[in-house]
Amino acid sequence: MISMSAPTLNFIQVFNQCINTKIQPKNRTELEKLIPLLIRSKEDYEKAAASNCFHKIPRPTVYSTEEEDLLKKVYKQRFAKFESCGRDFYDKILASAPNEKCLLCGQGTATELDHYLPQTTYPDLSVLPINLIPVCSECNFQKREHIPTQYENCIFHPYFDNFENINWLNAQIIPDKIASVYFSIAPNIDDSLQKRLNFICKKLNLNKVWQLKYGSRLIEVAQSLKAHKYASGTELDACYVKAHTIYLKETARTFTDKVFYNALSESEWFIDGGFEGIY
Ligand SMILES: [Zn+2]
Repeated sequence: MISMSAPTLNFIQVFNQCINTKIQPKNRTELEKLIPLLIRSKEDYEKAAASNCFHKIPRPTVYSTEEEDLLKKVYKQRFAKFESCGRDFYDKILASAPNEKCLLCGQGTATELDHYLPQTTYPDLSVLPINLIPVCSECNFQKREHIPTQYENCIFHPYFDNFENINWLNAQIIPDKIASVYFSIAPNIDDSLQKRLNFICKKLNLNKVWQLKYGSRLIEVAQSLKAHKYASGTELDACYVKAHTIYLKETARTFTDKVFYNALSESEWFIDGGFEGIY
């Protein structure tokens, strides 16, 4: 889960750009009439974001079915579609993901935008920049049309949540030749937050994502230690291996890397020579 600043694109400017060209005058007039309502929806969203209450954002009831369809088409045909009048904004938000990483799992490549609150229910938020999150296709698939109903089932919001200063994730190295790492939510955090994090991890299948990634990383670290032993022609003592893993922990760049290397530096099995059996 990667936290970052919310896009600063002006919502109404984006919306106007989307309805600017190649549109029937009647449809444009209809859409322009909706702008005051869209501004209200944006303000409701911002208010909810400030108090971390995405589950309390009212479902829009003021739009007719025709208006909802028009709004959905703005996203599909005038924002997400290649070479459409709003596509530059889509690309700008997508490109804002650090290192092109998916902001939800933090591992996959961000290739598309996900509506944090789905446009099927919230067509008024379909081109609201702060409702659009760069994600990988797997996370988009796992999340689907999720609508939060309480704090505990709100998906991580990269622009408004930041869990990196909370020690909420534990990892454990499983003494095993197959190289496995087990992740779990820390038990000593706020109960609601714990429930929410459990929900997010389950919904996005994050345990599996991390297990795959850090299982491979475990093999790489073991290989590197074995190569060092081979090159130096001497046995590696536990102090050396421990210092090596602590160095990796201290220089880790991401939250999950830190959690993994911390577990590695605390694994007596790995440090006392278990790494030699990993392949
Ligand atoms: Zn992802």
